[in-house]
Amino acid sequence: MLLEGKKFYIGVDCEGAACVVGEPGTGLGRGEQYQFARKQAAREANAAAQELFELGAEEVIVWDNHGMGCNFDYEQLDPRVKIALGSGHSGRFPLLDESFAGVMFIGYHARENTPGAVLAHTYSSKAFQYYKLNGREVGEMEIDAAFAALKQVPVVLCSSDDCCIRQARESFPWAETVVTKQSLSWTSAVSKHPAAVCEEIREAVRRMAGRLPEMKCYCFSTPLSVEIRFKRMEEAARFQMVGKDGKKLALTDAFTRSGIIDSVRDLL
Ligand SMILES: [Zn+2]
Repeated sequence: MLLEGKKFYIGVDCEGAACVVGEPGTGLGRGEQYQFARKQAAREANAAAQELFELGAEEVIVWDNHGMGCNFDYEQLDPRVKIALGSGHSGRFPLLDESFAGVMFIGYHARENTPGAVLAHTYSSKAFQYYKLNGREVGEMEIDAAFAALKQVPVVLCSSDDCCIRQARESFPWAETVVTKQSLSWTSAVSKHPAAVCEEIREAVRRMAGRLPEMKCYCFSTPLSVEIRFKRMEEAARFQMVGKDGKKLALTDAFTRSGIIDSVRDLL
């Protein structure tokens, strides 16, 4: 079998899942859309995990990472998966190491500053306008991919709305992708059916398995130049991140902090 003995890690956010558009003014919120999103994101992750096991994978970690990391009804998941959840640990992809063959992004969303993209944001739609690393604008998906690259683990598959997938194809052109919905605005889309998306994810996992040797890590040369633009001047003024020189990142204008850091590890 193609994936005999291999290990995979599936990062799962909620905003990019099928039929998820959140609520105007808040984002995903905690209402009906959240209730649906947490079920559908788990279904999509489970479709990927089951297909991985079908193809011989030995271990799959499903990482519940929206908000505080406690979103799914875990009994909905295949009993063979391990589940990373909660908050308070350092870094991203808890317990990821060099033994994993790939990471996947399910239900992630486009970065802030993406016109018309459903629920686009970078960490907080209230706090940040953009993050740039080595001059390149990045979102949560790219930052997580860079964390996986620290352990030499490639990005192999991404599933989300069309805008997020456009960014995934720019950043990880080798990875398999699934478009869950066409973005119309921050809180509207024309979505594929939730079951159809799960089927497409299974097909994408099968394509990925045949192309695994072509998959690559998403790397940045270090040290890293970082530029973070805030929405509010007071947030920029208060920001405490320390650069390689041991000083706070410089305020380059009233809304922007920038400087040099050693690694993506210093970002979070
Ligand atoms: Zn989220």
